[in-house]
Amino acid sequence: MFKKILIANRGEIALRVQRACRELGIKAVMVYSEADREAKYVKLAEEAVCIGPAPSPLSYLNMPAIISAAEVTDAEAIHPGYGFLSENADFAERVEKSGFQFIGPTPESIRIMGDKVSAKQAMIKAGVPCVPGSDGELPDDPVQIRRIARSVGYPVIIKAAGGGGGRGMRVVHTEAALVNAVQMTKAEAGAAFGNPAVYMEKFLQNPRHIEIQVLADKHRNAVYLGERDCSMQRRHQKVIEEAPAPGIPRKLIDKIGARCADACKKIGYRGAGTFEFLYENGEFYFIEMNTRVQVEHPVTELVTGIDIVKTQIMVAAGEKLPFTQRDIQLRGHAIECRVNAEDPYRFTPSPGRITMWHAPGGPGVRVDSHVYTNYFVPPNYDSMIGKIIVHGDTREQALARMRTALLETVVEGIHTNIPLHRELMVDAKFMDGGTNIHYLEEWLGAHKR
Ligand code: ADP
Repeated sequence: MFKKILIANRGEIALRVQRACRELGIKAVMVYSEADREAKYVKLAEEAVCIGPAPSPLSYLNMPAIISAAEVTDAEAIHPGYGFLSENADFAERVEKSGFQFIGPTPESIRIMGDKVSAKQAMIKAGVPCVPGSDGELPDDPVQIRRIARSVGYPVIIKAAGGGGGRGMRVVHTEAALVNAVQMTKAEAGAAFGNPAVYMEKFLQNPRHIEIQVLADKHRNAVYLGERDCSMQRRHQKVIEEAPAPGIPRKLIDKIGARCADACKKIGYRGAGTFEFLYENGEFYFIEMNTRVQVEHPVTELVTGIDIVKTQIMVAAGEKLPFTQRDIQLRGHAIECRVNAEDPYRFTPSPGRITMWHAPGGPGVRVDSHVYTNYFVPPNYDSMIGKIIVHGDTREQALARMRTALLETVVEGIHTNIPLHRELMVDAKFMDGGTNIHYLEEWLGAHKR
Protein backbone atom coordinates (compact mmCIF):
# COMPACT_ATOMS: atom_id res chain seq x y z
CA MET A 1 0.00 0.00 0.00
CA PHE A 2 1.09 3.57 -0.63
CA LYS A 3 2.64 5.54 2.21
CA LYS A 4 1.89 8.95 0.75
CA ILE A 5 -0.60 10.27 -1.80
CA LEU A 6 -0.88 13.72 -3.31
CA ILE A 7 -4.44 14.98 -3.76
CA ALA A 8 -4.61 17.13 -6.88
CA ASN A 9 -7.93 18.81 -6.19
CA ARG A 10 -9.75 21.18 -3.87
CA GLY A 11 -12.95 21.54 -1.88
CA GLU A 12 -15.18 18.72 -0.73
CA ILE A 13 -13.60 16.04 -2.90
CA ALA A 14 -10.10 16.92 -1.67
CA LEU A 15 -11.41 16.48 1.88
CA ARG A 16 -13.19 13.24 0.92
CA VAL A 17 -9.96 11.73 -0.43
CA GLN A 18 -8.02 13.03 2.59
CA ARG A 19 -10.47 11.17 4.85
CA ALA A 20 -10.01 7.93 2.87
CA CYS A 21 -6.22 8.30 3.16
CA ARG A 22 -6.42 8.74 6.92
CA GLU A 23 -8.53 5.61 7.25
CA LEU A 24 -6.00 3.66 5.22
CA GLY A 25 -3.07 5.04 7.24
CA ILE A 26 -1.72 6.88 4.20
CA LYS A 27 -0.23 10.38 4.48
CA ALA A 28 -2.04 12.87 2.28
CA VAL A 29 -0.33 15.82 0.64
CA MET A 30 -2.76 18.60 -0.23
CA VAL A 31 -2.04 21.07 -2.99
CA TYR A 32 -3.78 24.42 -2.89
CA SER A 33 -4.08 27.66 -4.79
CA GLU A 34 -3.62 31.03 -3.11
CA ALA A 35 -7.42 31.28 -2.90
CA ASP A 36 -7.60 28.09 -0.81
CA ARG A 37 -4.69 28.80 1.53
CA GLU A 38 -6.92 29.23 4.59
CA ALA A 39 -9.18 26.22 3.96
CA LYS A 40 -9.41 23.95 6.98
CA TYR A 41 -8.67 20.75 5.08
CA VAL A 42 -5.43 22.40 3.93
CA LYS A 43 -4.54 23.44 7.49
CA LEU A 44 -5.41 19.97 8.82
CA ALA A 45 -3.21 18.22 6.28
CA GLU A 46 0.09 16.72 7.33
CA GLU A 47 1.66 18.40 4.33
CA ALA A 48 0.41 21.07 1.94
CA VAL A 49 2.00 22.73 -1.06
CA CYS A 50 0.91 25.96 -2.75
CA ILE A 51 0.78 25.37 -6.50
CA GLY A 52 -0.08 28.84 -7.74
CA PRO A 53 -2.54 31.70 -7.83
CA ALA A 54 -6.33 31.40 -7.75
CA PRO A 55 -7.15 30.93 -11.47
CA SER A 56 -7.32 27.16 -12.16
CA PRO A 57 -5.07 27.23 -15.24
CA LEU A 58 -2.29 28.52 -12.97
CA SER A 59 -2.91 26.07 -10.11
CA TYR A 60 -5.29 23.10 -10.22
CA LEU A 61 -4.71 22.67 -13.96
CA ASN A 62 -0.99 23.39 -13.73
CA MET A 63 0.55 19.98 -14.45
CA PRO A 64 4.24 20.85 -13.87
CA ALA A 65 3.41 22.51 -10.52
CA ILE A 66 1.43 19.47 -9.35
CA ILE A 67 4.06 16.99 -10.45
CA SER A 68 6.85 18.96 -8.77
CA ALA A 69 4.75 19.09 -5.60
CA ALA A 70 4.62 15.28 -5.69
CA GLU A 71 8.38 15.16 -6.25
CA VAL A 72 9.33 17.46 -3.39
CA THR A 73 7.01 15.68 -0.95
CA ASP A 74 7.96 12.14 -2.02
CA ALA A 75 4.40 11.13 -2.76
CA GLU A 76 3.97 7.80 -4.53
CA ALA A 77 0.60 8.35 -6.15
CA ILE A 78 -1.69 11.17 -7.28
CA HIS A 79 -5.45 11.20 -6.77
CA PRO A 80 -7.09 13.61 -9.22
CA GLY A 81 -10.60 13.78 -7.67
CA TYR A 82 -13.20 14.91 -10.22
CA GLY A 83 -13.10 17.86 -12.62
CA PHE A 84 -9.79 19.67 -13.20
CA LEU A 85 -7.22 17.12 -14.48
CA SER A 86 -9.13 13.98 -13.53
CA GLU A 87 -10.05 13.05 -17.10
CA ASN A 88 -6.99 14.45 -18.79
CA ALA A 89 -5.13 11.58 -20.44
CA ASP A 90 -2.01 13.71 -20.96
CA PHE A 91 -1.88 14.42 -17.24
CA ALA A 92 -2.28 10.73 -16.34
CA GLU A 93 0.54 9.96 -18.76
CA ARG A 94 2.84 12.63 -17.34
CA VAL A 95 2.11 11.41 -13.82
CA GLU A 96 3.09 7.87 -14.72
CA LYS A 97 6.12 8.94 -16.78
CA SER A 98 7.34 10.88 -13.75
CA GLY A 99 7.21 7.66 -11.75
CA PHE A 100 3.98 8.14 -9.80
CA GLN A 101 0.88 5.99 -9.80
CA PHE A 102 -2.15 7.78 -11.23
CA ILE A 103 -5.18 6.81 -9.14
CA GLY A 104 -7.50 6.11 -12.02
CA PRO A 105 -7.57 4.15 -15.28
CA THR A 106 -4.73 3.99 -17.80
CA PRO A 107 -4.11 7.08 -19.98
CA GLU A 108 -5.29 4.96 -22.91
CA SER A 109 -8.68 4.22 -21.30
CA ILE A 110 -9.10 7.90 -20.42
CA ARG A 111 -8.29 8.87 -23.99
CA ILE A 112 -10.79 6.46 -25.52
CA MET A 113 -13.58 7.41 -23.12
CA GLY A 114 -12.74 11.12 -23.25
CA ASP A 115 -13.71 11.20 -26.87
CA LYS A 116 -17.40 10.39 -26.95
CA VAL A 117 -17.20 9.12 -30.51
CA SER A 118 -14.47 6.57 -29.73
CA ALA A 119 -16.19 5.76 -26.42
CA LYS A 120 -19.40 4.85 -28.22
CA GLN A 121 -17.49 2.76 -30.72
CA ALA A 122 -15.74 0.89 -27.90
CA MET A 123 -19.08 0.30 -26.18
CA ILE A 124 -20.78 -1.00 -29.30
CA LYS A 125 -17.86 -3.42 -29.67
CA ALA A 126 -18.19 -4.47 -26.02
CA GLY A 127 -21.92 -5.14 -26.42
CA VAL A 128 -23.23 -2.11 -24.50
CA PRO A 129 -26.38 -0.61 -26.10
CA CYS A 130 -25.97 3.00 -27.34
CA VAL A 131 -28.29 5.81 -28.48
CA PRO A 132 -28.89 5.38 -32.23
CA GLY A 133 -27.05 8.03 -34.23
CA SER A 134 -24.30 8.83 -36.68
CA ASP A 135 -21.67 6.22 -37.23
CA GLY A 136 -18.89 8.26 -35.63
CA GLU A 137 -17.98 11.87 -36.40
CA LEU A 138 -20.26 13.90 -38.71
CA PRO A 139 -18.85 14.74 -42.16
CA ASP A 140 -18.72 18.33 -43.47
CA ASP A 141 -20.94 17.73 -46.48
CA PRO A 142 -24.46 19.17 -45.83
CA VAL A 143 -26.05 16.58 -48.11
CA GLN A 144 -24.57 13.74 -46.09
CA ILE A 145 -25.48 15.41 -42.78
CA ARG A 146 -29.11 15.67 -43.89
CA ARG A 147 -29.11 12.07 -45.04
CA ILE A 148 -27.80 10.89 -41.66
CA ALA A 149 -30.39 12.95 -39.77
CA ARG A 150 -33.20 11.53 -41.89
CA SER A 151 -32.11 8.00 -41.16
CA VAL A 152 -31.74 8.70 -37.42
CA GLY A 153 -35.09 10.50 -37.34
CA TYR A 154 -35.92 13.94 -35.87
CA PRO A 155 -35.48 15.36 -33.33
CA VAL A 156 -31.73 14.82 -33.20
CA ILE A 157 -29.06 16.15 -30.88
CA ILE A 158 -25.67 17.35 -32.12
CA LYS A 159 -22.97 16.67 -29.55
CA ALA A 160 -19.31 17.57 -29.30
CA ALA A 161 -17.01 14.53 -29.25
CA GLY A 162 -14.87 16.30 -26.66
CA GLY A 163 -17.77 17.80 -24.71
CA GLY A 164 -18.40 17.64 -21.00
CA GLY A 165 -20.14 19.36 -18.14
CA GLY A 166 -23.38 19.57 -20.09
CA ARG A 167 -21.86 21.88 -22.71
CA GLY A 168 -21.50 21.44 -26.47
CA MET A 169 -24.94 20.05 -27.28
CA ARG A 170 -27.72 21.30 -29.53
CA VAL A 171 -31.14 19.82 -30.20
CA VAL A 172 -32.47 20.05 -33.76
CA HIS A 173 -36.15 19.54 -34.59
CA THR A 174 -36.27 20.28 -38.31
CA GLU A 175 -34.15 19.78 -41.38
CA ALA A 176 -34.17 23.53 -42.01
CA ALA A 177 -32.24 24.15 -38.79
CA LEU A 178 -29.86 21.21 -39.15
CA VAL A 179 -26.79 22.34 -41.05
CA ASN A 180 -26.54 25.66 -39.26
CA ALA A 181 -26.82 23.89 -35.90
CA VAL A 182 -24.03 21.49 -36.83
CA GLN A 183 -21.78 24.36 -37.88
CA MET A 184 -22.45 26.30 -34.71
CA THR A 185 -21.83 23.32 -32.46
CA LYS A 186 -18.59 22.58 -34.33
CA ALA A 187 -17.35 26.14 -33.88
CA GLU A 188 -18.23 26.11 -30.19
CA ALA A 189 -16.67 22.71 -29.66
CA GLY A 190 -13.46 23.82 -31.34
CA ALA A 191 -13.26 26.89 -29.12
CA ALA A 192 -14.33 25.22 -25.86
CA PHE A 193 -12.75 21.76 -26.11
CA GLY A 194 -10.04 22.22 -28.72
CA ASN A 195 -11.76 19.56 -30.83
CA PRO A 196 -14.35 20.56 -33.43
CA ALA A 197 -15.57 16.99 -34.04
CA VAL A 198 -19.30 16.52 -33.49
CA TYR A 199 -21.63 13.56 -33.81
CA MET A 200 -25.37 13.03 -33.98
CA GLU A 201 -27.75 11.11 -31.76
CA LYS A 202 -31.45 10.59 -31.74
CA PHE A 203 -32.83 13.05 -29.19
CA LEU A 204 -34.76 10.92 -26.75
CA GLN A 205 -37.93 12.74 -25.70
CA ASN A 206 -38.54 11.73 -22.11
CA PRO A 207 -35.63 9.67 -20.86
CA ARG A 208 -34.30 9.31 -17.38
CA HIS A 209 -30.57 9.58 -16.65
CA ILE A 210 -29.53 6.29 -15.08
CA GLU A 211 -25.89 5.45 -14.47
CA ILE A 212 -23.99 2.36 -13.40
CA GLN A 213 -21.05 2.60 -10.99
CA VAL A 214 -18.22 0.17 -11.65
CA LEU A 215 -15.03 -0.76 -9.86
CA ALA A 216 -12.25 -2.74 -11.50
CA ASP A 217 -8.78 -3.85 -10.45
CA LYS A 218 -5.57 -4.49 -12.37
CA HIS A 219 -6.28 -8.23 -12.42
CA ARG A 220 -9.27 -8.03 -14.76
CA ASN A 221 -11.85 -8.29 -12.00
CA ALA A 222 -14.75 -5.87 -12.33
CA VAL A 223 -18.04 -5.39 -10.53
CA TYR A 224 -20.97 -3.00 -10.77
CA LEU A 225 -22.37 -1.34 -7.67
CA GLY A 226 -25.94 -0.88 -8.81
CA GLU A 227 -27.30 2.28 -10.33
CA ARG A 228 -27.98 5.94 -9.63
CA ASP A 229 -30.84 8.03 -10.93
CA CYS A 230 -29.54 11.49 -11.84
CA SER A 231 -32.52 12.74 -13.82
CA MET A 232 -33.03 15.88 -11.75
CA GLN A 233 -30.91 18.19 -13.88
CA ARG A 234 -30.73 21.81 -14.86
CA ARG A 235 -28.91 22.65 -18.08
CA HIS A 236 -27.67 19.04 -18.23
CA GLN A 237 -26.12 19.46 -14.77
CA LYS A 238 -27.15 17.14 -11.97
CA VAL A 239 -28.87 18.68 -8.95
CA ILE A 240 -30.28 15.68 -7.04
CA GLU A 241 -29.18 12.04 -7.29
CA GLU A 242 -30.51 8.87 -5.74
CA ALA A 243 -29.99 5.13 -5.50
CA PRO A 244 -31.65 2.86 -6.38
CA ALA A 245 -33.58 4.29 -9.34
CA PRO A 246 -37.29 4.28 -8.47
CA GLY A 247 -39.43 1.81 -10.38
CA ILE A 248 -36.83 0.17 -12.62
CA PRO A 249 -36.97 -3.63 -12.33
CA ARG A 250 -33.88 -5.06 -10.63
CA LYS A 251 -33.61 -7.62 -13.42
CA LEU A 252 -33.04 -4.86 -16.00
CA ILE A 253 -30.43 -3.15 -13.83
CA ASP A 254 -28.62 -6.43 -13.26
CA LYS A 255 -28.55 -7.13 -16.96
CA ILE A 256 -27.10 -3.75 -17.93
CA GLY A 257 -24.80 -3.75 -14.89
CA ALA A 258 -23.34 -7.10 -15.90
CA ARG A 259 -22.75 -5.73 -19.41
CA CYS A 260 -20.84 -2.78 -17.93
CA ALA A 261 -18.67 -4.97 -15.71
CA ASP A 262 -18.03 -7.18 -18.69
CA ALA A 263 -17.08 -4.19 -20.85
CA CYS A 264 -14.54 -3.17 -18.16
CA LYS A 265 -12.90 -6.56 -18.43
CA LYS A 266 -12.90 -6.37 -22.23
CA ILE A 267 -11.28 -2.94 -22.39
CA GLY A 268 -8.89 -3.55 -19.48
CA TYR A 269 -10.49 -0.84 -17.40
CA ARG A 270 -9.20 -0.28 -13.88
CA GLY A 271 -10.33 1.89 -10.98
CA ALA A 272 -13.71 3.53 -10.45
CA GLY A 273 -15.87 4.50 -13.38
CA THR A 274 -19.42 5.31 -14.35
CA PHE A 275 -21.38 4.25 -17.41
CA GLU A 276 -24.01 6.89 -18.09
CA PHE A 277 -27.23 5.86 -19.81
CA LEU A 278 -30.46 7.38 -20.90
CA TYR A 279 -33.35 5.11 -20.00
CA GLU A 280 -36.61 5.21 -21.94
CA ASN A 281 -39.40 2.65 -22.38
CA GLY A 282 -37.48 -0.06 -20.56
CA GLU A 283 -34.33 0.33 -22.67
CA PHE A 284 -30.87 1.62 -21.73
CA TYR A 285 -28.84 3.74 -24.14
CA PHE A 286 -25.18 4.45 -23.32
CA ILE A 287 -24.22 8.14 -23.63
CA GLU A 288 -20.79 8.37 -22.04
CA MET A 289 -18.37 7.00 -19.49
CA ASN A 290 -16.79 9.00 -16.69
CA THR A 291 -13.35 7.65 -15.86
CA ARG A 292 -13.14 9.04 -12.33
CA VAL A 293 -14.96 9.23 -9.03
CA GLN A 294 -18.17 11.23 -9.38
CA VAL A 295 -19.79 13.91 -7.25
CA GLU A 296 -22.71 11.58 -6.56
CA HIS A 297 -20.65 8.54 -5.45
CA PRO A 298 -21.89 8.77 -1.82
CA VAL A 299 -25.42 7.54 -2.61
CA THR A 300 -23.89 4.31 -3.90
CA GLU A 301 -21.62 4.09 -0.86
CA LEU A 302 -24.65 4.36 1.41
CA VAL A 303 -26.69 1.65 -0.29
CA THR A 304 -23.80 -0.79 -0.82
CA GLY A 305 -21.67 -0.10 2.26
CA ILE A 306 -18.61 0.03 -0.02
CA ASP A 307 -16.13 2.88 0.25
CA ILE A 308 -15.52 3.77 -3.39
CA VAL A 309 -12.62 6.15 -2.76
CA LYS A 310 -10.76 3.71 -0.52
CA THR A 311 -11.27 0.95 -3.09
CA GLN A 312 -9.97 3.26 -5.83
CA ILE A 313 -6.76 3.72 -3.84
CA MET A 314 -6.43 0.02 -3.04
CA VAL A 315 -6.79 -1.11 -6.63
CA ALA A 316 -4.39 1.60 -7.82
CA ALA A 317 -1.85 0.09 -5.42
CA GLY A 318 -2.34 -3.23 -7.22
CA GLU A 319 -4.62 -4.96 -4.72
CA LYS A 320 -7.42 -7.22 -5.89
CA LEU A 321 -11.01 -6.08 -5.41
CA PRO A 322 -11.90 -7.26 -1.88
CA PHE A 323 -15.37 -8.42 -2.99
CA THR A 324 -17.08 -10.20 -5.87
CA GLN A 325 -20.36 -9.37 -7.56
CA ARG A 326 -22.21 -11.78 -5.25
CA ASP A 327 -21.02 -9.90 -2.17
CA ILE A 328 -22.64 -6.68 -3.33
CA GLN A 329 -26.06 -6.21 -1.79
CA LEU A 330 -28.15 -3.07 -1.94
CA ARG A 331 -29.77 -1.91 1.28
CA GLY A 332 -32.33 0.86 1.60
CA HIS A 333 -32.43 4.11 -0.34
CA ALA A 334 -30.10 7.11 -0.54
CA ILE A 335 -30.62 10.65 -1.85
CA GLU A 336 -28.09 13.42 -2.40
CA CYS A 337 -28.73 17.16 -2.71
CA ARG A 338 -25.89 19.23 -4.14
CA VAL A 339 -25.51 22.44 -2.18
CA ASN A 340 -24.45 25.27 -4.49
CA ALA A 341 -23.45 28.81 -3.59
CA GLU A 342 -25.94 30.43 -5.94
CA ASP A 343 -29.26 32.18 -6.09
CA PRO A 344 -31.81 29.36 -5.70
CA TYR A 345 -34.04 30.51 -8.56
CA ARG A 346 -31.88 32.71 -10.78
CA PHE A 347 -28.77 30.51 -10.39
CA THR A 348 -26.31 33.39 -10.36
CA PRO A 349 -23.20 32.39 -8.40
CA SER A 350 -23.03 33.71 -4.85
CA PRO A 351 -19.44 33.56 -3.63
CA GLY A 352 -18.35 35.32 -0.45
CA ARG A 353 -17.97 34.78 3.26
CA ILE A 354 -20.21 32.27 5.02
CA THR A 355 -21.06 34.04 8.27
CA MET A 356 -22.93 31.05 9.68
CA TRP A 357 -22.79 27.36 8.74
CA HIS A 358 -24.76 24.81 10.66
CA ALA A 359 -24.72 21.30 9.18
CA PRO A 360 -27.51 18.80 9.74
CA GLY A 361 -27.05 15.47 11.51
CA GLY A 362 -28.87 12.51 13.00
CA PRO A 363 -29.47 8.94 11.83
CA GLY A 364 -28.72 8.31 8.18
CA VAL A 365 -27.41 11.82 7.44
CA ARG A 366 -24.02 12.42 5.82
CA VAL A 367 -22.58 15.80 4.92
CA ASP A 368 -19.61 15.97 2.56
CA SER A 369 -18.43 19.55 2.69
CA HIS A 370 -15.23 21.47 3.31
CA VAL A 371 -16.96 24.68 4.44
CA TYR A 372 -17.58 26.10 7.93
CA THR A 373 -18.57 29.33 9.63
CA ASN A 374 -16.34 32.14 8.39
CA TYR A 375 -15.21 30.17 5.31
CA PHE A 376 -14.81 32.34 2.23
CA VAL A 377 -16.26 30.80 -0.95
CA PRO A 378 -13.82 31.90 -3.66
CA PRO A 379 -15.36 33.17 -6.89
CA ASN A 380 -12.84 31.26 -8.98
CA TYR A 381 -14.28 27.76 -8.92
CA ASP A 382 -17.41 25.67 -9.29
CA SER A 383 -20.28 26.86 -7.08
CA MET A 384 -20.81 23.53 -5.32
CA ILE A 385 -19.88 23.89 -1.64
CA GLY A 386 -20.98 20.50 -0.42
CA LYS A 387 -23.48 17.68 -0.50
CA ILE A 388 -26.13 16.52 1.90
CA ILE A 389 -26.73 12.79 1.59
CA VAL A 390 -29.30 10.74 3.47
CA HIS A 391 -30.00 7.04 3.78
CA GLY A 392 -33.19 5.30 4.88
CA ASP A 393 -34.72 1.84 4.79
CA THR A 394 -37.19 3.04 2.16
CA ARG A 395 -37.36 5.96 -0.26
CA GLU A 396 -40.07 7.53 1.90
CA GLN A 397 -37.81 7.41 4.93
CA ALA A 398 -34.90 8.86 2.95
CA LEU A 399 -37.14 11.71 1.75
CA ALA A 400 -38.30 12.40 5.30
CA ARG A 401 -34.70 12.46 6.50
CA MET A 402 -33.69 14.80 3.70
CA ARG A 403 -36.53 17.19 4.60
CA THR A 404 -35.36 17.23 8.21
CA ALA A 405 -31.74 17.65 7.18
CA LEU A 406 -32.56 20.58 4.89
CA LEU A 407 -34.64 22.16 7.63
CA GLU A 408 -31.73 21.95 10.06
CA THR A 409 -29.16 23.34 7.63
CA VAL A 410 -28.30 27.00 8.18
CA VAL A 411 -26.11 28.93 5.76
CA GLU A 412 -25.82 32.68 6.18
CA GLY A 413 -23.79 35.31 4.37
CA ILE A 414 -24.20 33.81 0.90
CA HIS A 415 -27.13 32.46 -1.11
CA THR A 416 -27.51 28.72 -1.62
CA ASN A 417 -29.94 26.49 -3.48
CA ILE A 418 -31.21 24.92 -0.23
CA PRO A 419 -34.62 26.66 -0.53
CA LEU A 420 -35.01 24.99 -3.94
CA HIS A 421 -34.16 21.57 -2.50
CA ARG A 422 -36.69 22.10 0.30
CA GLU A 423 -39.42 22.70 -2.25
CA LEU A 424 -38.43 19.75 -4.43
CA MET A 425 -38.48 17.34 -1.48
CA VAL A 426 -42.20 18.02 -1.03
CA ASP A 427 -43.06 18.10 -4.72
CA ALA A 428 -45.70 15.45 -5.43
CA LYS A 429 -44.20 14.23 -8.73
CA PHE A 430 -40.68 14.01 -7.35
CA MET A 431 -42.03 12.18 -4.32
CA ASP A 432 -43.69 9.66 -6.64
CA GLY A 433 -40.26 8.94 -8.16
CA GLY A 434 -39.19 8.34 -11.74
CA THR A 435 -39.25 11.92 -13.07
CA ASN A 436 -37.43 12.38 -16.39
CA ILE A 437 -34.49 14.62 -17.34
CA HIS A 438 -36.77 17.54 -18.30
CA TYR A 439 -38.79 17.56 -15.12
CA LEU A 440 -36.69 20.01 -13.10
CA GLU A 441 -36.48 22.57 -15.90
CA GLU A 442 -40.22 22.34 -16.48
CA TRP A 443 -40.80 22.72 -12.74
CA LEU A 444 -38.55 25.79 -12.66
CA GLY A 445 -40.44 27.25 -15.63
CA ALA A 446 -43.76 26.74 -13.84
CA HIS A 447 -42.45 28.16 -10.54
CA LYS A 448 -40.85 31.33 -11.90
CA ARG A 449 -40.37 34.13 -9.39
P1 ADP B 1 -21.80 15.73 -20.59
O1 ADP B 1 -20.52 14.97 -20.80
O2 ADP B 1 -21.68 17.16 -21.02
O3 ADP B 1 -22.38 15.56 -19.23
P2 ADP B 1 -23.69 13.75 -21.67
O4 ADP B 1 -23.49 13.07 -22.96
O5 ADP B 1 -23.43 12.96 -20.43
O6 ADP B 1 -22.85 15.12 -21.66
O7 ADP B 1 -25.18 14.30 -21.60
C1 ADP B 1 -25.60 15.12 -20.53
C2 ADP B 1 -27.10 15.22 -20.50
O8 ADP B 1 -27.61 15.72 -21.75
C3 ADP B 1 -27.82 13.91 -20.29
O9 ADP B 1 -27.90 13.53 -18.93
C4 ADP B 1 -29.18 14.24 -20.89
O10 ADP B 1 -29.91 15.04 -19.99
C5 ADP B 1 -28.84 15.09 -22.09
N1 ADP B 1 -28.68 14.27 -23.33
C6 ADP B 1 -27.51 13.83 -23.86
N2 ADP B 1 -27.71 13.08 -24.97
C7 ADP B 1 -29.05 13.04 -25.17
C8 ADP B 1 -29.93 12.40 -26.14
N3 ADP B 1 -29.46 11.65 -27.13
N4 ADP B 1 -31.27 12.57 -25.99
C9 ADP B 1 -31.77 13.32 -24.98
N5 ADP B 1 -31.02 13.94 -24.06
C10 ADP B 1 -29.67 13.81 -24.12
